[in-house]
Amino acid sequence: MKPVLPTCESCGTQWTWKQSFKALRGFYMHTQCPYCGESQFVTPYKPGLFLTFFLAGSPLIMFLFIDFTELGFLTTYAVILPILFISSPYIYRLKSKEPRPPIEN
Ligand SMILES: [Zn+2]
Repeated sequence: MKPVLPTCESCGTQWTWKQSFKALRGFYMHTQCPYCGESQFVTPYKPGLFLTFFLAGSPLIMFLFIDFTELGFLTTYAVILPILFISSPYIYRLKSKEPRPPIEN
């Protein structure tokens, strides 16, 4: 599994980290491709999502078994949070079509 930045399904252009990060605000909604202007739907990339949850949750799990000091706990998160921040654009893919039917009211 190689981490890749999202690619527009319409024009095939790979987005930059910054563009991808901005599009995260529209998680589960659509966003516009900065290159071709087509609507792109943000769909979570499951292995990436799983890894993120694992990374975010692991100190909590370790906390149950290892006698962490509060400082150690905070230090662990001080390391993990920037990693999560940097890796967040890698955990989704773009689709030209809506990945699931819209929610009916
Ligand atoms: Zn495009």
